[in-house]
Amino acid sequence: MNIQENVDLLPYNTFGLSYFTKYFSEVSSLEEIKNVLNFVRERKLDLLILGGGSNILLTKDFDGLAIKVCLQGKEIIEENEEHVIVKASAGELWHSLVLFCVENGWGGIENLSLIPGCVGAAPMQNIGAYGVELKDVFVSLEALNKKTGVVESFDRNACDFGYRWSYFKGVGKDKYIILNVTLSLAKKPTVNIHYGAIMETLSLQGITQPTIKDVSNAVIAIRSSKLPDPKKIGNAGSFFKNPEIPANKALQLKEIYPNMPTYPGQNGLTKIPAGWLIEQCGWKGKIIGQTGCHKDQALVIVNYGHATGVEIVEHAHQVQRSVKEKFGIEIEPEVNLV
Ligand SMILES: Cc1cc2nc3c(=O)[nH]c(=O)nc-3n(C[C@H](O)[C@H](O)[C@H](O)COP(=O)(O)OP(=O)(O)OC[C@H]3O[C@@H](n4cnc5c(N)ncnc54)[C@H](O)[C@@H]3O)c2cc1C
Repeated sequence: MNIQENVDLLPYNTFGLSYFTKYFSEVSSLEEIKNVLNFVRERKLDLLILGGGSNILLTKDFDGLAIKVCLQGKEIIEENEEHVIVKASAGELWHSLVLFCVENGWGGIENLSLIPGCVGAAPMQNIGAYGVELKDVFVSLEALNKKTGVVESFDRNACDFGYRWSYFKGVGKDKYIILNVTLSLAKKPTVNIHYGAIMETLSLQGITQPTIKDVSNAVIAIRSSKLPDPKKIGNAGSFFKNPEIPANKALQLKEIYPNMPTYPGQNGLTKIPAGWLIEQCGWKGKIIGQTGCHKDQALVIVNYGHATGVEIVEHAHQVQRSVKEKFGIEIEPEVNLV
């Protein structure tokens, strides 16, 4: 077991924030994870679980142990004419798993190309993009119960997936370390190109009968053109979730703002793009000190180099307040504050 002391978390979060953790350990096996948990238990330390750090916002030094889950491996555990069931370890890069599936012609997650981070975090918020969510292909996951030390299996129902939501953000919060995720992919895939600019991008390339590889490439091209690269400007993608409001409230707002985009949400609610709301409040491209909302994508809050986590949180609060004042809508962070 390798436990380091006073480690800067700068390389471990895509916001590019420098905060120190009292202890740090990279773990590559279940045995190592259990040893680290013993260390944490003996010293009564808090635990911060890290994948790629692309959905966290650090706001202070961490007075506990940060564990970076590096479990590696992908295996086919079942296959028939229609489907292939793939199990991937938590530390695998999500995008590498997507490419692996796409190269093999297995469809289902090509629309989730280029989402940063690791496989183990994907179920946490049921990652989604371009009309597809993890839950659409999800079979099960295995997670270590931190308290009992038992590895438990969760099927789709047990994960209670919702929009940017799972059991692990609710009742199961802080109780488990996800070890692996099992997905069912289609060997005779049908593509889903009706969301965002996928169809437009494909038709500009003259592609009329796209393969999953074409869709993956289109998603990569769109994302690369419109989202800031965290290697160049610190960010964690969408800072807020798209709010879901009662349909009658959406209709009232639509009378005042006829251009307001709306989509069907969960349980009969109406989903409004948070980016649009933020843009209407004048935040797009606005720089305040070292932070601000990105010039091409108001929903992405960025670190221009030397912001602190606290400044970013304060900026997020200002954005929330102005959306509430103008539209009467509460927008909630998607990013996990630490
Ligand atoms: C440029 C950019 C674009 C993005 N686009 C999208 C998008 O289109 N759709 C989308 O859904 N998300 C998107 N995201 C957010 C992010 O990439 C995803 O949420 C991703 O799944 C986070 O993975 P991670 O490994 O970086 O998680 P981390 O940020 O390391 O962790 C996120 C949360 O999960 C917990 N966690 C991590 N690993 C484990 C584990 N093994 N067991 C238990 N808990 C764990 C952490 O404690 C934390 O609470 C984007 C981020 C960026 C920077």
